[in-house]
Amino acid sequence: MGVEKVPKYNIPIKKVDYVFIELEKMKPHEQLVQKELEAFIESVTGSGIFWKAMLLAKVPGEDLYLIVDGHHRWAGLQKLGAKKAPSVILDYFSDDVKVYTWYPAFKGSLDRVIERLKAEGLEVIEDPEAEEKAERGEIAFALVGERSFSIPGALDEQKKVSKVLDEMSVEGEIELIYYGLKEDARDDMAKGEVDYVFIRKAPTKEDVMELVKRGEVYSPKTTRHVLPFIPDMIDVKLEDLF
Ligand code: AMP
Repeated sequence: MGVEKVPKYNIPIKKVDYVFIELEKMKPHEQLVQKELEAFIESVTGSGIFWKAMLLAKVPGEDLYLIVDGHHRWAGLQKLGAKKAPSVILDYFSDDVKVYTWYPAFKGSLDRVIERLKAEGLEVIEDPEAEEKAERGEIAFALVGERSFSIPGALDEQKKVSKVLDEMSVEGEIELIYYGLKEDARDDMAKGEVDYVFIRKAPTKEDVMELVKRGEVYSPKTTRHVLPFIPDMIDVKLEDLF
């Protein structure tokens, strides 16, 4: 799992009301990362306290909730046999809720990364227009650094890229960093801290809802939701969630 570079916003912490929602009514929109799941299970079973409410959004017309934030809490609690989780229900389509994406970047050998992407069946084509195409959502990713490449495709191809990067990071072949902002990745590239960044179009909230309704998921770290507040910590006993 890579490191996160979160943009510096001044988002206030707010006490929010939560309700208990059944885990089986929650729908994920991203694939899980095994390490994060294990870390959560270890933490919650160690302390016996659940301190971070899930963030959910009602799926229009269905008795279901989109998991906006909390995929690993949801999967972890289910694995432990729990039935429900304290949740904050968001007004998802209000302007207060923003959705951006994460940009994976790496420090390491471009040739090795391209080799592994190709081994996964992906095309990597040198293309000076790659970034514009990625921003328009015409390709799965642009790979941008000293040179610039198009990786054609859509969600399935994004999943393959994510898998390759995750594996190479675990194997120690690359240093993987997820940027909340492209500009931060560019600054770090100029300083030589990272070599290449993968650029894609951020999904819209409509895209996310449609995907969930179809029962599909994005690759990990595809969405980056930003709220006008950070929910304050809560103090709920794990045993009360069964
Ligand atoms: P996710 O559910 O995908 O947001 O990932 C797991 C999250 O669980 C991390 O953001 C952790 O901050 C959080 N976490 C870790 N330990 C606990 C706990 N005991 N209760 C609630 N949340 C936790």
